[in-house]
Amino acid sequence: MFNFTDSNNIGKAYKDFVLLSIDELPDYKAKGVYLRHKITGLEVYHIIKDDKENLFAYAFRTLDKTSRGVAHIMEHSVLCGSEKYPLKEPFITLASTSLNTFLNALTYPDKTVYPGASVVRSDYYNMMDVYGDAVFFPKLDHATFIQEGHRLEMDENGKLSIQGVVYNEMKGNYSSFQPIAFSDLISAMFPNSYPAFDSGGDPLHIPELSYQDFLDFHQKFYSPDNCLLFLYGDIPTFEQLDFIDERFIDRLVKKYDCREGGAICNIDTVSKLPLTKKEIASLQTLNFLQESCSLKTYAPHTGSTGSFVTMNWYAGKADMEKYFLCEALCGNDSSPLARALKDSKLGDDVQFQSFGQFREEFFSAGLWGVKKGNEEKVFKLVEKTIREIYENGVSKEDIDSAVMGIDFALREVNRYWGPFSIQLMEKALKGWCNGDSCASQLNPITAFEKVKAALRSDPDYTKKLIKKYFLDPSVTVRFVSEPSEKYFSEREEAENLLIQKLEKNLDKAQLKKDLDELHAYQQHIETPEETACIPATKISELDRNIDLAETTLEFIKGADSSDVPLFLSEEDTNGIFYLDVLFPFDRLPAEYVQHIPFFTDILTNLGWNGKGWDKCTAQSSCVMGDIWGRPLCGTVADVPDCKAEVEKYKNYNFCGRSWIGLICKALTERAEEALDMLAEIITKMDFDDEKHLETLIGELKAEKKNSIVNNGREYAQKRARAGWDVNLAINELMWGISQLHTVAGYKKHNAKKLLKTFAYMYSECIKSGGIIHITADADSIKKLRPLLEGFAKKAQITKLLPGHNYTMEEIAPYISQFEECQADSIQILKVPSQTGYAAAITPASDYLTKEAAAENIFASWLSNHTLWDKIRTTGGAYGANCWVDNVQKQIVMTTYRDPSPEKSIEVYLDSLKELCKTPISKEEVEKTIVSFYGNAIVPASPKDRGARSFEGMLYGNPQKFRQTRVDTILQVTEEDVEKACDRMYESACQKCSKAVFCNSNGKSEKTARNNIRIPI
Ligand SMILES: [Zn+2]
Repeated sequence: MFNFTDSNNIGKAYKDFVLLSIDELPDYKAKGVYLRHKITGLEVYHIIKDDKENLFAYAFRTLDKTSRGVAHIMEHSVLCGSEKYPLKEPFITLASTSLNTFLNALTYPDKTVYPGASVVRSDYYNMMDVYGDAVFFPKLDHATFIQEGHRLEMDENGKLSIQGVVYNEMKGNYSSFQPIAFSDLISAMFPNSYPAFDSGGDPLHIPELSYQDFLDFHQKFYSPDNCLLFLYGDIPTFEQLDFIDERFIDRLVKKYDCREGGAICNIDTVSKLPLTKKEIASLQTLNFLQESCSLKTYAPHTGSTGSFVTMNWYAGKADMEKYFLCEALCGNDSSPLARALKDSKLGDDVQFQSFGQFREEFFSAGLWGVKKGNEEKVFKLVEKTIREIYENGVSKEDIDSAVMGIDFALREVNRYWGPFSIQLMEKALKGWCNGDSCASQLNPITAFEKVKAALRSDPDYTKKLIKKYFLDPSVTVRFVSEPSEKYFSEREEAENLLIQKLEKNLDKAQLKKDLDELHAYQQHIETPEETACIPATKISELDRNIDLAETTLEFIKGADSSDVPLFLSEEDTNGIFYLDVLFPFDRLPAEYVQHIPFFTDILTNLGWNGKGWDKCTAQSSCVMGDIWGRPLCGTVADVPDCKAEVEKYKNYNFCGRSWIGLICKALTERAEEALDMLAEIITKMDFDDEKHLETLIGELKAEKKNSIVNNGREYAQKRARAGWDVNLAINELMWGISQLHTVAGYKKHNAKKLLKTFAYMYSECIKSGGIIHITADADSIKKLRPLLEGFAKKAQITKLLPGHNYTMEEIAPYISQFEECQADSIQILKVPSQTGYAAAITPASDYLTKEAAAENIFASWLSNHTLWDKIRTTGGAYGANCWVDNVQKQIVMTTYRDPSPEKSIEVYLDSLKELCKTPISKEEVEKTIVSFYGNAIVPASPKDRGARSFEGMLYGNPQKFRQTRVDTILQVTEEDVEKACDRMYESACQKCSKAVFCNSNGKSEKTARNNIRIPI
């Protein structure tokens, strides 16, 4: 047997895969092996790690110096049918039938990546096969190109418009200030090189892409000698290479003419660094501005509170030194640069970062929301502050807190948007794409130790870095992006001109032919026989027992000698602990509920014990990884099983409550200090810094305004759901449009009054008693457990007083336009935006019942089939989804970046009606069950596992009910699903709450409507 981790085998081949190097990766307790196939040039990097959630990713360097979005359109199109899987969308079939814990396709400015992950081996190989076939052997039909890319469409009145999935998706990207200001800054810093262009596609340039260019792009960039197959996990290397060899190698040799004198030949089997073709290497070259200059661009005013003003410096290749410098200068609000920018009041949010996504990065420092005329002041302030920091030096506290922040971040295993291994994949690819070894980016902890050593040996180290990166460089770039009210109308005009131009050269007969072909292709509904080519895991192959987190309940003596509930969740946290202290807020009068989000947000930001917020922030970040406040609300499902759970703990008063929580995370080795500090924070919280609250109000307003368009779906959904139940009304009040009204009412000159309100709220919550929850590994719990009673006493935590359940009558007066939430007609949320969102809510069956399980399966099938076909593929929305909130007994349908949200709701309701007549086949039901099961077993981060299990106990929904749900799901039959569809249709006819978030120019007036005021 070939041993891939034996260095004697370096230079030798396994099935033509030459072993090039073996890397020790101590930071991740793993090894990496690097291989190159000597005939096709395909490279493989396997991170061998004892983790059963295996991940693979096919990655290609893809670059373009235009904004036609060819890489992005290609990413979509390869997933629209391939040689072995000639379906319309094997990807969606696969996503809806596999047990994937992650399956995606991602376009970056310099590469395109197709990752998939699973904890089930057969499933993993199924995905690897379908994805491999897709990337190397796609069909790339003309119909696919015009569906995903761009085409002209004509409406009933003969009016032309441009359509296309990517085209519409990118229109959504060009709809608010922040992302455009950022991308304009990047373009400015790397003029005329690949980052200056939009790899996703600028809608005004997407129509420049021809079908032939599109095909050529695939030929050039998707060849095996430009591909890295990244692997992670515990499946042996040889087994995966056998699979690749058997499925792909011969076919690749043929397609890419891999022979002496052919297109791919003479592969270097010695170089330990990735091979990059000359043409691609030249596209990777970055251009820089050669002289200092001032640049100005315009972005849409939507979401802006003023200009984006930054000073910028080139910084060279990314490394830990720069990461440290960023943290030391601006890691938290009290860091010296952040502090000076904030205190200046010249803007409402600090911008400081190093743009690290390219092979060379740059630092950017400045402010968001700068009023016209203040730009120069911002530049001067940045320059002056950096010089002062250099002259005075960075304080020990700021350095310590930067070190703590980085140490912590490097140790914490999280799961931001997929498995942790995705982060390793991105690091390896960053090395590989740029001609460095994959391992070059995979040793951050070791690299940071070097920075720490430098800090210890040279007291002027930080100072020298400031000089090196900010004072010495000869080029500084002053950049301003200004909000423009004309941005959309100008783009619209450009779009109209483009359509006119396209119309002139239009071959109408050809267009009609193309569209007929496309529509025929889209309308073809694939039969089960056709989709059967996609390999699927069977229900019988599933492990019925799912992995459940566990939380135990103990009691410790509180400050009043009563029993304080202590919840312990043991998870593999790598020497870190997470501690929540929760106090109920439901004893406060209803008028205070609207303030809970901002109140919890600022809880740890106003300082304590008279020390001032900045000192406190600096101190806490030297001791803890982080500390923050959060609200926690939930619902106990109205079913006997859940009520029985609540009944069990009746005497302790902790079930079904609404809470404010303080959470800290820290290294267990610093537990004593962290607990002492937390007790000090809880008992000595200050509410008297008016000036700082004013700053925080400004930040809150800016953040709400910036995020409104991107969160359109959430706003629409909360609005549509709010009239049903008091918990949903509270949700709207705290996070929906109503909250925007509350935020609009916060005025800087009222800071004093607001502080008084907060002080009152805090003391009332603390008086109501508290509970403690800890997530940590066994060793950490052992260390912490004896400290907790002392902590509870110091923190003055007392017995929980009984709760109060808010009623709809109490909450309704604080919901803006509450009558409209309860009305039958659609609620319209009008916002200047180029795209829309829809939400439709209908009733569902009781939690934990067979009926509810069948509705889950039906909703999931509907999302992946009918809604995908009709709303995404045909309707041009970026997404459409239907899911069941079992606890709240609601079926929630939403659409995302939708050009015609109102129509989508009709399409949804019509589909329900139609589906009552055409039942779903047994095979389809089984496939959906398998995929639903797959979602239920997606691993969570240690912190989230602990939190979910704990929260389940608070709301009568313990982890064991997850098992119950899986059991009922696995028993769902096609008859159950048929009945579920009928039931969903009937209940939708009786009750359906609708809301859409759309452009203020939306003209359709056919339905009765309620316009909801939005204070922006
Ligand atoms: Zn896309």
